[in-house]
Amino acid sequence: MAEKADLFPHDSSLELLLPSERDEKMSAKLQRLIAYAYGNAPGFKQRMDGAGIKAGDIKGLSDLQKIPVLRKDDLIRLQKEMPPFGGYLAVPLGEIDHIYQSPGPIYDPQRRMKQGTLPPDLGKGQIAVNTWSYHVTPAGLLIDRMLRAMGFTVFPAGTGNTDLQVQIMRELKVSYFVGTPSFLAAIIKRAEETGWDIKKDFNLKYAQVFGEMGGDPLRKMFAEKYGITCVGGDNYMTADIGPIASSCEKNSGMHVNTDVIVEIVDPSTGRDLPAGEVGEVVVTPFDEVYPLVRFGTGDLSTLVTETCACGRTTPRLPKIMGRSGDAVRVRAMFVHPRQSDEVVSKFREITRYQITVTRPADRDEMLLQVELASEPADRGAWEESLRKEFQNACKVRFDTLEVLRAGSIPPDGKRIIDRRVY
Ligand SMILES: [Zn+2]
Repeated sequence: MAEKADLFPHDSSLELLLPSERDEKMSAKLQRLIAYAYGNAPGFKQRMDGAGIKAGDIKGLSDLQKIPVLRKDDLIRLQKEMPPFGGYLAVPLGEIDHIYQSPGPIYDPQRRMKQGTLPPDLGKGQIAVNTWSYHVTPAGLLIDRMLRAMGFTVFPAGTGNTDLQVQIMRELKVSYFVGTPSFLAAIIKRAEETGWDIKKDFNLKYAQVFGEMGGDPLRKMFAEKYGITCVGGDNYMTADIGPIASSCEKNSGMHVNTDVIVEIVDPSTGRDLPAGEVGEVVVTPFDEVYPLVRFGTGDLSTLVTETCACGRTTPRLPKIMGRSGDAVRVRAMFVHPRQSDEVVSKFREITRYQITVTRPADRDEMLLQVELASEPADRGAWEESLRKEFQNACKVRFDTLEVLRAGSIPPDGKRIIDRRVY
């Protein structure tokens, strides 16, 4: 099948523009996307008509928040009502190569992988092993296409079967691994148990590992202990949207790619939050196949808008902070257990903690209860530093700190309890 003309071609020059110049170009592109989706995706037309919005009302990026967020639950319902794609497929079915299913269940038509994130000296004449699943979900085939576009010869290993993976990587002299950090760690462990020496018996030089929280300690271990360079850093992609953001060579957060618009919104209203606040990641892909305008990922993050040391001016997502369903909103700020865990992990004395949110009058109050392994040397300074770290990470202060006797906080209890009654 001949490649169709790309209505929204990838343009990497957008990454280096002044934010105001990029916003202008993205706004023009957005107007075209909205008009296109309105005319070609009946599900989108229905959402716009239902909210009383005309395609012409969306003139720039800040108008996007007028359109109601499309939630995963909405898409599941719409796909049942208008199978298989809920009225969001904007091209004839015959023009798509693959259909995937992700949990929900949700069906996704194939879209192209527009940009790679690998160094240019990699690819031709080298063998890559792709351990993402090729069945049902999109990751395996999408990454396969990206690797082949870069010149790699790909072994489509898929997930699991660690012994076979060890054999393939050794016998084929695979130089490039793609998969999760923990799966690479498991393969290395199995190879060592079998008596192989990773540095001597294998040709593994590079790994592109992502898809898990907290992969950095493993990346460091691969590099230091086994001489495996981790490229590409973190990638943020979802089955519904495809790639959204990826880290650059400076590893200071994940740059939002220019084939999508990312907003950080208040999950309860769908309105944009000011830069720096934590909220739900809502994504609008420039995708003529499946224009899921304002798709709510349910993931929490924040946008960093300062120019990166790498020179790109595109906004960055420092990391995904958890699911919006686990977060509790306190005085207009989302506090997620992952944020509070991070703060508490900096204070060795704290063995357990619990946060309780109440609303005695018209103000949210936050109580932080901790159990301590040992008494800090300077209690006053310690408390002050805890307050400061907490506010830095969670953007909101706790009102009261209580030190409890050991055993008062249940070991498997919830870390944030919402006791507010409205
Ligand atoms: Zn950068």
